[in-house]
Amino acid sequence: MGFRRPRFFRRPDNPGISGIPGSQGGTTLTQYVFVTGGVVSSLGKGIVVASIGRMLKSRGATIAVMKLDPYLNVDPGTMSPYQHGEVYVTGDGSETDLDLGHYERFIDVELTAVSNVTAGQIYSDVISRERNGRYLGGTIQTVPHVTNLIKERIHQLADETGADVAVIEVGGTVGDIEGLPFLEAIRQMHNDVGRDNAIYVHLTLLPYLGSTGELKTKPTQHSVQALRGIGIQPDAIICRSDFEVDLGLREKISLYCDVPTEAVIGLETLDTVYAVPLSLEEAGFGDFLADRLGITKSPDLSQWADMVEKLRDPKRTVRVAIVGKYVELPDSYLSVIEALRHSALAQDCEVKIDWIKAEDIEELGADSVLDRASGVIVPGGFGERGIEGMVSAARYARERAIPYLGLCLGMQVMVIEFARSVLGLEDANSAEFDPGSKNHVIAYMPGQRELGTTGGTMRLGLYPCALVPGTIAAGAYGSELVNERHRHRYELNNDYRDRLNGAGLLTSGTAPDGSLVEISEVEGHPFMVGSQFHPEFASRPDRPHPLFREFMGAAVDTLREGAQHSLPMDESGGDDTASSPEIVERSGIST
Ligand code: GLN
Repeated sequence: MGFRRPRFFRRPDNPGISGIPGSQGGTTLTQYVFVTGGVVSSLGKGIVVASIGRMLKSRGATIAVMKLDPYLNVDPGTMSPYQHGEVYVTGDGSETDLDLGHYERFIDVELTAVSNVTAGQIYSDVISRERNGRYLGGTIQTVPHVTNLIKERIHQLADETGADVAVIEVGGTVGDIEGLPFLEAIRQMHNDVGRDNAIYVHLTLLPYLGSTGELKTKPTQHSVQALRGIGIQPDAIICRSDFEVDLGLREKISLYCDVPTEAVIGLETLDTVYAVPLSLEEAGFGDFLADRLGITKSPDLSQWADMVEKLRDPKRTVRVAIVGKYVELPDSYLSVIEALRHSALAQDCEVKIDWIKAEDIEELGADSVLDRASGVIVPGGFGERGIEGMVSAARYARERAIPYLGLCLGMQVMVIEFARSVLGLEDANSAEFDPGSKNHVIAYMPGQRELGTTGGTMRLGLYPCALVPGTIAAGAYGSELVNERHRHRYELNNDYRDRLNGAGLLTSGTAPDGSLVEISEVEGHPFMVGSQFHPEFASRPDRPHPLFREFMGAAVDTLREGAQHSLPMDESGGDDTASSPEIVERSGIST
């Protein structure tokens, strides 16, 4: 009760274009919230979309969510992390935009390939249909052929999920050339699904002019003009700002942009992204959306608010080093950062991250850059660069009993280090990094493809893992069988498994038939665990992933001098143990 289903509507017929059963003339009752961005990029549109999802879910609506990416890559899988940040992997093995990670974490939904559409997918689909004669000799045009395909994908999302509300983010900024077909498609949706069933939300920036001490609305006005030029009149405008957006400013934007004052929402920069749903709710945006969508149930964000309160009041600080290849751009490891935050929260802690460039360890030595970390993470990655630095980090953690969590590549590095140092196989390596090595302890396993590899040569998405009773990993999960998300090519080489096990590198999880090692751990170490999968994608604010949770628990027990909160008489904040300025600068150590 409480949630009024939107009125019934029929979609317009679109003969000859569809190809997706049920997506034309369907009877899905889904309503749509479209979110566009203006003025500048990186305003946090993904967080706003995720927050809208959470706010509506807290009112009892079921939510579908989608990111429309106007770039021409088919998916971000082939893009450098420097270009795009993290590649987020969904359970079905799709390589997607990192915003899908925000959606899953905030809304607590399991997404699939349908939730990420790129221009590359749309254009390659249009061209393959044309080559296959599907357009019966017609001239193929951006409108209607490209726009129809975009709408088909949006309808497909609604059909497959049957959600009450689909929140759809258009990537990029209004005014981008490549975004036009997407904006045109969502403009048409207004008429297609009925005006009450499509809401347009525009996110902009109010820049602050220091000289006059004021927030400026002109860029917002221009951005809304550009949007209207395309035919979209926003129903609500969310204004990002570093300062309070007062009533006068909201009235001004209301006047110039033809949006009611209560639908002009100020969103000040917050200390944590998890506070965004609460801030938008407090500004009345949840009520505005609910009213427009016909949702009558009151929101319940109390658990979310408790979580944010706890996040803001940590009892201790734990310092964790992330040793990787792309540390200059922390977005490359976004889900790892979030998983660390979730697990720290469960320990009443705040996590400070030392970003360590793996190559710098090769030059400076592990001791000098890892000396203050209570835990070490080696995250995923591809290619040879920095591998020796990561191996040194693994050795440092193993020899000094510092908690270590290896994520995919991080497990492979842990195995290489163990084979070299403990089994004495000096040239132990992965076939990926040193094809000439005689000891490929990490290799491409024959038969791997037959085990269900998707997406070319990569093992992608969920695969089951049977845990070995009595191991640290099994204790962390508290279950016998789990499913985890993968994105890799290489595996622990089974020819070395017995020798590694015998020397103390235990196998703590395998494929159910025992054919592939999924988790390894160092016997007798407080916590040195590596997984061939990526646990970070499955972590949620209220349910930290078990491996991260246990890693953080072990790191808390390893609190290093100076990592704790300062004592009352010491106002320095306990940060005076930082490594030398040269190391900090060279290795990009940050907090
Ligand atoms: N490069 C390694 C592999 O392909 C690890 C991949 C990863 O860390 N995601 O197996």
